[in-house]
Amino acid sequence: MDAARLKLAVQKAGRLTDPSLDLLVRCGLKLSRGKDQLVGYGENMPLDVLFVRDDDIPDLVQEDVCDLGLLGLNVLEEKRLEFAARGGAARFMPVRRLDFGRCRLSLAIPTEASWQGVDSLRGKRIATTYPFLLERFLREREVTAHIVTLAGAVEIAPRLKRADLICDLVASGATLEANHLREVETVLECHAVLVRTPLILPPEKEDWVQRLLMRIDGVQQVRESKYIMLHAPRSALPEIARLLPGSESPTIIPLEGSPDRVAVHAVCRENVFWETLERLKQAGASALLVLPVEKMLA
Ligand code: ATP
Ligand code: ZN
Repeated sequence: MDAARLKLAVQKAGRLTDPSLDLLVRCGLKLSRGKDQLVGYGENMPLDVLFVRDDDIPDLVQEDVCDLGLLGLNVLEEKRLEFAARGGAARFMPVRRLDFGRCRLSLAIPTEASWQGVDSLRGKRIATTYPFLLERFLREREVTAHIVTLAGAVEIAPRLKRADLICDLVASGATLEANHLREVETVLECHAVLVRTPLILPPEKEDWVQRLLMRIDGVQQVRESKYIMLHAPRSALPEIARLLPGSESPTIIPLEGSPDRVAVHAVCRENVFWETLERLKQAGASALLVLPVEKMLA
């Protein structure tokens, strides 16, 4: 592989794959990737994408095989604690919190079991694939319990009598419910993150890392942002400015032939809901129009 090109590790097949590729496409990357190929070639950026298991991403950055990686905070933090426990230090730095991959690492107990807070964990066996995060949680709460480390299929451990409860990732809770478990405590709130090597990169590579970071910021801002246009009586402007969600000073444009009414244009950094439009209308606004924002550069 070409050492002058950035290497970014992405999950090969899983929950993070589509949102990760979607983010890169929105950042302008054109990838050529043959079917089943493990490396995607960036046609319009000096950046190649390596498709791997998410658990391997911290090691790939740690060992300087990759400069960047997209992975869940759960995997990142577990690896960081594992390196620390072995007396080493992680050489991957989180540089951006991303707006996908949201879930939580939680404790869940059999539906019928009783729960009186973390004290109920004392002496219990807890099955997990995240022993280091769980160990930290127990230590911080001064509770002694037995950690049963499994490679997968954690949710069936209580039924198999391998554990009394579990510590696993939850999003909707449907998997827990299907396995007669209920969530009782959050260990870690998770989302995807972009990590980078702490190494000082050659200037051209570093320049592309910075450009990518700026584009990611733009993409994430735009996802929630809306461009709103409306007509309003001048007298209602203070009230209307107050109602516009997350907008900085709106643009006021005179309307030909109606001295009392103006057009208001504003970028809202939050989604605009029907309720907001209804309130704007009550405040005197008319001809309301809400448009998606395509790109943004501060
Ligand atoms: P791999 O084969 O790459 O090891 P995996 O089985 O570990 O895949 P996935 O289930 O695809 O991984 O999850 C990848 C990441 O997606 C998780 O580590 C977590 O950060 C995030 N995630 C988001 N929602 C969920 C969820 N409901 N359950 C599990 N993980 C989720
Ligand atoms: Zn994994």
